[in-house]
Amino acid sequence: MASPPRSVDELYTEARAGSRRALGRLLTLVERGGHDAETIAELANPDAGSAHIVGITGAPGAGKSTLTGRLVNLLVDRGDRPAVLAVDPSSPLTGGAILGDRIRMEGSLPGSAGLGGAEPASTAAPGDPPPTAFIRSMATRGHSGGLALAVPLAVRLFDAMGYDPVIIETVGVGQVEVDVVAAADTAVVVMTPGMGDAVQANKAGLLEVADVFVVNKADRPGALDVRRDLELMLDLSHVTGQEDEGGYRPPIVLASALEGQGAADVWDAVVAHLVVLDETGRRQERRHHRIRTEIRARMAQTLASRVDEAMNSEMGSELVTMVEEASLSPAAASAKLLDRLLHNR
Ligand code: GDP
Repeated sequence: MASPPRSVDELYTEARAGSRRALGRLLTLVERGGHDAETIAELANPDAGSAHIVGITGAPGAGKSTLTGRLVNLLVDRGDRPAVLAVDPSSPLTGGAILGDRIRMEGSLPGSAGLGGAEPASTAAPGDPPPTAFIRSMATRGHSGGLALAVPLAVRLFDAMGYDPVIIETVGVGQVEVDVVAAADTAVVVMTPGMGDAVQANKAGLLEVADVFVVNKADRPGALDVRRDLELMLDLSHVTGQEDEGGYRPPIVLASALEGQGAADVWDAVVAHLVVLDETGRRQERRHHRIRTEIRARMAQTLASRVDEAMNSEMGSELVTMVEEASLSPAAASAKLLDRLLHNR
């Protein structure tokens, strides 16, 4: 790193004072994980807790980035300070293309900067006017376990910096992605006209987590069919009793993000959902669930690395040999290693 060494505390203070550059660096540390990330978590915790956390998910190409860009413009125009965390599951190679899209999206924002990935720190110097929006990509690059920790922390950091709402945009494939969206206050599932989209979403478990459905690309034929399929599936979940206890039924909003149509309707539905959450006391439940998910992910991560250590230890190799020689069962080997791991024996 060519940058002058700065303590995490200093960066945090600078970021709180409005430095986008400092926030960009903190996010890089969050992404890296480890000790610095822990320190950031400790610093951010007392300052966070008020932002509306919105998850936006859907298949690649559904129009999530386009829609998010529209929403960000809308929010900035209304005087809000949105932050976007784009969880990018692509390889570094295709990540470039997505990054390109993001820069275009970024370019349409007044006074915004702070794109992640290629250029984590913005060009804005500390002391610039307060930022309006902050957009950051976070690549998964194969360490999905790390993502389960990095995403909630990045969200908390944005929250602590006064960004509200915090939008997490992610492709709805993979358990981590679904977990991330399910842990938001409001989960938006984006679909498009196309064969079996609603069915796919159902399979991925997204119908259960959706608080707002968006049928994007409504300029294309088939949008009304998707809406009808969704309505039917929602009816069915009502019949089978899967519906939310409070009787909340996720609205289905038609949008054409490319042309900018429907973005305001989408946001109205998101806000209406938040009102329901507040009125029914379920916002607290979501937060509770989010914290549980995060702690669980941390435990799973810690255990997984200790399991790897145990496997790579001398005892691990010996036990593998014993199972190979049929003098021990795999279950017994596992029990021995677990016993040592859990009791430090
Ligand atoms: P993401 O992968 O879900 O983030 O999707 P993008 O926002 O990158 O959009 C994928 C493609 O769909 C791009 O070429 C967009 O221009 C296009 N697109 C997005 N929204 C619409 C829409 O409302 N109508 C049409 N026809 N195309 C759209």
